[in-house]
Amino acid sequence: MEPTSVIRLVLLGPPGAGKGTQADLLSARFRVPHISTGDMLRAEIGRGSELGCEAKAFMDRGELVPDQLMLGVVRERLAKADCERGFVLDGFPRSVPQANGLDAVDFAGVGALRVLSLLVPAAELVRRLAGRRTCRACGAMFHVAFEPPTKDGVCDRCGGALYQRDDDREDIIHARLDVYRKETEPLLAFYRARGLLTEIDGTGSTAEVSARLASALEVSH
Ligand code: AMP
Repeated sequence: MEPTSVIRLVLLGPPGAGKGTQADLLSARFRVPHISTGDMLRAEIGRGSELGCEAKAFMDRGELVPDQLMLGVVRERLAKADCERGFVLDGFPRSVPQANGLDAVDFAGVGALRVLSLLVPAAELVRRLAGRRTCRACGAMFHVAFEPPTKDGVCDRCGGALYQRDDDREDIIHARLDVYRKETEPLLAFYRARGLLTEIDGTGSTAEVSARLASALEVSH
């Protein structure tokens, strides 16, 4: 894939599948923005905005923020100039109404949407999420056992403070996985029927998953 071509990617997968990490790498590779709706909402909460306050109650329970709210946020983001050459969407769409909303966005016919779904067994997702620590400053992710930071509680990338997201607590993790099965998993059939879906084994190291994604997109590793 040439760096100048338009690339519109959607990364699907349950919480903990590694969408954020892989979206970061794909965004650097194709030089298009990584759009994480979860990060956008957490930034709104940090700012104390009206949207942030509204979203927080849903997020704390592991539920989805209402579709209409999300569609407004994403439409506005995709209309920005930096999305002209494409984007990597991470965490959106998460429901059939959101996917229909994305279908309705006018991209002036440039470039096809590619949907890559990361497959990871449920027990592995719980292990990954329960040990996850996130940097408050740059959003980098670590794992207490699998990828510990060099210094306890400190981000290796930017020196920021690491914290455990409220929704990475075990009781909320199960709620999020249930929501994924009910609301988001139907998108696999939705995109498969359109011939847009590629399913990728999301187990193994970051480098291994990244190589699988690269092969699926037919770029050199
Ligand atoms: P994430 O960081 O992608 O795991 O998202 C964290 C939380 O933000 C989710 O559990 C939802 O409550 C909310 N959220 C993020 N993206 C969406 C979306 N596309 N639709 C609805 N809720 C979302």
